[in-house]
Amino acid sequence: MTTSLPAIATMVLALVLLALALGRWRENGAGALVWLAAFLATVAIRTPYSLRNRHNRIVEASKGPTDMLLLAGMFATMMVLPLLQLATGLFDAANYRLPAWAAWIGALLQIPYLWLFWRSHADLGRNWSPGLEVRESHELVTRGIYARIRHPMYAAIWFSALAQPLLVQNWIAGLPVIPAFAAMWFIRVPNEEAMMRRTFGAAYDAYCATTGRLFPPLRG
Ligand code: SAH
Repeated sequence: MTTSLPAIATMVLALVLLALALGRWRENGAGALVWLAAFLATVAIRTPYSLRNRHNRIVEASKGPTDMLLLAGMFATMMVLPLLQLATGLFDAANYRLPAWAAWIGALLQIPYLWLFWRSHADLGRNWSPGLEVRESHELVTRGIYARIRHPMYAAIWFSALAQPLLVQNWIAGLPVIPAFAAMWFIRVPNEEAMMRRTFGAAYDAYCATTGRLFPPLRG
């Protein structure tokens, strides 16, 4: 197994920030602790798939500047900025304060988030990739949660994005994940579906006819 130096440096930095953030639990409050727990669960769910799937042979990849920018936006707003804020209080001047029920709602949203995030990774298995990619012998997954909706992983991320400003109450570290993921959703989904249609043709059209993008279809 080879792990690059930048990947190791990123992991070490993330661990240091995590430890600092946990050490500041009094300043950060209970909502931040929920966010940190969900962040750790996210890493635990995803890491086995990241490690296994990096050996996939990729036959089509969309690595244009738009896709890279969207991924960078998500990385910054969903991980870097909140971790930095909770670890250091760097953006304290941009804090806001919501009533206690807000953090409770943020905490409850973690339940559908983590369930959908785990289920979609388990169902996609070897066919999952962080970018838009088709692997050699890519399979069109229509089982499990994918039998009802086409984008359960993005549905999961919607839950997480909506919860983040309720848990990390900061204009810089909490809120920007919503526009970042909205951009990802509106730009990436049509591209992803076009890629799937090119790859699977009529089978993908038939799949779309019986599933919804985010919500199960009302009939059938
Ligand atoms: N949009 C999906 C998957 C996100 S991961 C979701 O929200 O759950 C992105 C990768 O998943 C894409 O590169 C594509 O190759 C793959 N993918 C998406 N839907 C798939 C499906 N039904 N079967 C197999 N692979 C799929």
